[in-house]
Amino acid sequence: MPVKPVNAREALELQRSGMLLLDIREPDEWAAGIAEGARPVSRSELEKNACRYLDGFDQPVMLLCAGGKRSDACAQALADAGYKAVYSVQGGIQSWQADGLPMQAHQTSDFDLRYSRQMVLPQIGREGQEKLSRARVLLVGAGGLGSPAGFYLAAAGVGHLCLVDDDTVDKSNLQRQILHKNDNVGELKVISAKSTLNALNPSISIEIHNDKISRTNIRKYLNEIDLVIDGTDNFKARYAISDACAEAGIPWVYGAVYRFEGQVSLFHASRPEQRGLCYRCLFPEVESGLNAPNCSEAGVLGVAPGIIGVLQATEALKFLLGIGQPLIGRLLHVDLLGMRFHQTELTQDPACAACGSYSNTAG
Ligand SMILES: [Zn+2]
Repeated sequence: MPVKPVNAREALELQRSGMLLLDIREPDEWAAGIAEGARPVSRSELEKNACRYLDGFDQPVMLLCAGGKRSDACAQALADAGYKAVYSVQGGIQSWQADGLPMQAHQTSDFDLRYSRQMVLPQIGREGQEKLSRARVLLVGAGGLGSPAGFYLAAAGVGHLCLVDDDTVDKSNLQRQILHKNDNVGELKVISAKSTLNALNPSISIEIHNDKISRTNIRKYLNEIDLVIDGTDNFKARYAISDACAEAGIPWVYGAVYRFEGQVSLFHASRPEQRGLCYRCLFPEVESGLNAPNCSEAGVLGVAPGIIGVLQATEALKFLLGIGQPLIGRLLHVDLLGMRFHQTELTQDPACAACGSYSNTAG
């Protein structure tokens, strides 16, 4: 079914005689005003959910964008999907305004403006963005890994972030822990982190706890949590996270950094069918890792936790949105000096003390 071209003047007349006119530009473009009588619906939203805006395949509809290219492409997509009377306004809003046709103001919400570049992605859209708004993430550690992860999760609109850290900001942290600034030296990291994240995105809720995560207290922080980000630098906390998450069936994103190298994985022990496992499947004994030095002893290039923390945030967002291939059952190694990424396939240990029961249930 070919797309029908229509010029701006004809479009206004048809709209006034009752035909639906959709402004398929993006929310930040609507903010400067939309064509009088038009209904704003972004292109990605229309292509994804056309049946929400059109009463069946026979309803005539006109599409308007900035210059006419997007409306042509979108009209063609709708025509290909079976819609029989789709018109594309030639020259878009530019022709509309050049012809002196009437405009109307449009109040674009903070949500639509802030997340417009994400919602335009067909894999996310409004539905995905709303999913992120409802998501609740526990971020353990507001240091080198927690800083970039927290920044991007807050910017992306994860609705609720719970931050747990018991440290204060030291000048030697500032080389990599980018949530904190010079003025925050001596302050609790959770206080400093909350003020930075709130300044970036005031529309999300940030809960903070000045506490050290351990085997005895972690369960109380997992209540209603969808996913945990491990931004710790010690093995005791990591095993506490792994064991509690395995027990509760909650996924957690592991990240670790050593000098110019790092590792990332997504542990989800209760999903053996997706090759999920826990940290203890890899390292059964706490003692086996206790001698590894932390950043203060071994040194670290500031961007290393930056890269690993951003990869952790990426895995978190993918998981919360349910898109892409999660890093479950795979350990990604990053070597920054050689600039090489490679991965190791992991398998659940059926005899694992923490998660072997999942593997056995799955048979
Ligand atoms: Zn395990």
